[in-house]
Amino acid sequence: MIAVSIGRTRHKMVVAEHRALAERGAELVELRLDWLSRQPDLTRLLKERPTPVIATCRRQIDRGRWRGSEPQRQTLLREAIVAGVEYVDLEGDIAGQIPRYGKTKRIVSHHDFDETPRNLEAIHARLADKDADIVKLVTMANSPGDGVRMLELVAEAEVPTIGFCMGELGIPSRILCGRYGAPFTYATFTRERVLAPGQLTFDEMRTLYRYDSITKDTQLFGVLGDPIGHSLSPLVHNAAFSHEKLDAVYVPIRVPPDALAATLDEFGRLGFRGYSVTIPHKEAVLERFGRPDDPAWEIGAANTLYLDGEGEWQVMNTDYEAALDSIRLGLDPDDEGELEGKKALVLGAGGAARAVVLGLVRNGVQVTIANRRGERAAKLAEQFRCKQVQWENRTTVHADILVNCTPLGMHPNVDDTPFDKNAFLEDMLVFDMVYNPESTLLLKEARERGCRTVSGIEMFVRQGAVQFERFTARDAPLDAMRAALRKGISPVRDGSS
Ligand code: NAP
Repeated sequence: MIAVSIGRTRHKMVVAEHRALAERGAELVELRLDWLSRQPDLTRLLKERPTPVIATCRRQIDRGRWRGSEPQRQTLLREAIVAGVEYVDLEGDIAGQIPRYGKTKRIVSHHDFDETPRNLEAIHARLADKDADIVKLVTMANSPGDGVRMLELVAEAEVPTIGFCMGELGIPSRILCGRYGAPFTYATFTRERVLAPGQLTFDEMRTLYRYDSITKDTQLFGVLGDPIGHSLSPLVHNAAFSHEKLDAVYVPIRVPPDALAATLDEFGRLGFRGYSVTIPHKEAVLERFGRPDDPAWEIGAANTLYLDGEGEWQVMNTDYEAALDSIRLGLDPDDEGELEGKKALVLGAGGAARAVVLGLVRNGVQVTIANRRGERAAKLAEQFRCKQVQWENRTTVHADILVNCTPLGMHPNVDDTPFDKNAFLEDMLVFDMVYNPESTLLLKEARERGCRTVSGIEMFVRQGAVQFERFTARDAPLDAMRAALRKGISPVRDGSS
């Protein structure tokens, strides 16, 4: 179950939000009484309440907003119990002063906004000792492993325990605590009113992560990277799991640069079976798990780590296959996917360019590379035995296929383009790896000149689809993944593809 926190300054808004949440399917609401600007009127808040509630009134030392005195606060909590709220939240240090009464269940809580202490078990035992129906332990994650320790505590606790970590590093524990036995997690009504660091919205918890269907049998996947907040992979993979009715969830895992090895061990203890891997860990996973015959070695980076049927970790670079498939998608049907003998101009010489150049060269395409920093293009051209041209001279190349592997044109710089619109050749296939927006200026101008075009959406979906297939040994639902990605990208789209 998801408890949705309402923190509003006006009673009227609390009541309206409560009603709206109930209409949207919320089953439990936390009323943050400390947010109200006037003395809380419990009768008004509780009369005809559309869902069960948790009454919470946080002190300022616990990052709450209560401005009255402590005796007044405790009186309010007692009044809430007498009024029959379903749950009351009592901080561990005052829980002993407020006796059990009626049917109200006691959540005995402790928050630590600085760290996840080593002695979690001792803190938990102290809270459980305060006549707790539920223990709530919420701490700041300073490493990905903090959330794992918390989930392990939840799993072993004898008293029902809600335990998760705050902050971006703690997000997996918010999503997964139910899997380890937490009676509920917390979410916020909207992104504009996040009441604690790292809190997700009710819609994200329910629709994106399908919190209520996560059980101890749910298979675990995620994306490892730093930063990770803007990753669209959770949208795409969870949509695929949902579409295929698979009991699996995919979470964002922020892993600071020096924390990869420890995180893999810690999340391994939870039973994670596969990861997408992004900056800055693409090289490190390859070095740790790569095999010499993998194309990922030639690219120098892996974006996927998964357990194979034998229980062995394997790495892969799915950009390679995805880029090739995207280019084939845009070829003239008369070509029947044949790339041999074609000429390609690749703009950029970063990680994505390396994957596409390798794929093209291996399929008999004559590749020319142009990069802003010429020395990088020269190095790549030498490694893959192809040509190089100065960035300034890129429009002079006669190519059948143009591939943009630079971020030029990406949101918010949507008026940028890496190529001169007068230099497109009529039968050119133009493939832009940028996927946000879907219809970049490069692609719009290419279409105006009669070129065939493929957007970065196709590659993003395909690299995710190959990962999905490795994770689940099933065909990926491309259409569902594409639709989820389109929904997730910025609204700067014009609808064309
Ligand atoms: P990267 O390793 O950081 O490489 C970036 C490349 O873009 C470099 O060659 C860089 O040139 C060039 N560049 C950056 N800013 C430029 C500018 N203002 N003018 C000209 N060139 C510029 O990044 P990456 O991983 O290869 O990714 C490149 C792009 O592809 C990104 O937009 C990424 O989102 C996109 N991508 C899409 C997918 C997909 O699935 N659709 C997959 C992977 C990547 P210098 O060497 O001179 O710095």
